[in-house]
Amino acid sequence: MIKRKKTRHILIGNVGVGGDEPVRVQSMTNTDTRNVKKTVSQIKGLERVGCEIVRVAVPDMEAAKVLSEIKKQISIPLVADIHFSADLALEAIRQGVDKIRINPGNVKPIEKIKEVVLACKKKKIPIRIGVNAGSLEQEILEQYKGEATAKGMVQSAIKHITILEELGFEDIMISLKASDIERTVEAYRELSEKVNYPLHVGVTEAGTKFRGTVMSSIGIGTLLYAGIGDTIRVSLTDDPTEEIPVAWEILSALDLRHRKPTVTSCPTCGRTEIDLLKLTKEVEKLVEKFPRKLHIAVMGCIVNGPGEAKEADIAVIGGKGVGLICRKGKILRKVKERDLLTEFKKELEKEFKK
Ligand code: SF4
Repeated sequence: MIKRKKTRHILIGNVGVGGDEPVRVQSMTNTDTRNVKKTVSQIKGLERVGCEIVRVAVPDMEAAKVLSEIKKQISIPLVADIHFSADLALEAIRQGVDKIRINPGNVKPIEKIKEVVLACKKKKIPIRIGVNAGSLEQEILEQYKGEATAKGMVQSAIKHITILEELGFEDIMISLKASDIERTVEAYRELSEKVNYPLHVGVTEAGTKFRGTVMSSIGIGTLLYAGIGDTIRVSLTDDPTEEIPVAWEILSALDLRHRKPTVTSCPTCGRTEIDLLKLTKEVEKLVEKFPRKLHIAVMGCIVNGPGEAKEADIAVIGGKGVGLICRKGKILRKVKERDLLTEFKKELEKEFKK
């Protein structure tokens, strides 16, 4: 079992983050925030697939002024992503968002960030500091020969954190994203030794679905395995709803959280006598409705299948014309190949009636 680093507990709307809370799944819309209908529709799609916190870009006052309209129509916490502008942050707070993402060191003059902090304190909403390697401050870059190093990223985060702490504000989250795994992991590791604020982890600009999934799984997975990370975001150049199943699969692979049963399947070989890919996809579709941890195995031959699937709660093993339904390595019954899925479904339903 992974031992998670215990961070400060904060609330984003009604969703707890840090402390003893589970790792939360987050995403960001890619609609024009000013288009309320499209943004709400995308957020609802994200909610359906398991997104627990959503962030929207707030590039101008028009976008800031529709935030309460968006919030009214969704049921997960809404985070406003703001760059540089205290006025946009103040408007987002007035509109009732649940968290803002802004880097206090980028807001000038300092009096303006004081106003933002005061407004956040009054409404009890946290601030996320989001350091990105690509937009590191010039003075920090100069200290590292122009390179956006992990150390520089941590230094930038500490600078922003210090501003908030000096204003007596501690409901802070931090992210330190780079587009490569090494810097991302190094930066988070270093920062997690220095502060105990909750960390939002992810690899930025990870790419399209295939590469982005691999990059995020390695980057986020490495950090989570080391006990680091309180919320995660898989960044994909794609429809953001594609990010959520990947995030849940990472959590499930590390046995941190389960939104549905885990389906393992054999890689197939020369002994496979059924269409295992089709069968596995059908099993995967069936288990989606069952919202808890359970290990399902789908195996391609009745010779090795039962033994190889002995750790599974339920195993579906296909052979030529016949198949087996097993539980923890014990054969429950032999069935005709065409009845395999129906018999598996019966077994699954029994499990969830327990
Ligand atoms: S379970 Fe059977 S079909 Fe699947 S990989 Fe093992 S030996 Fe091959």
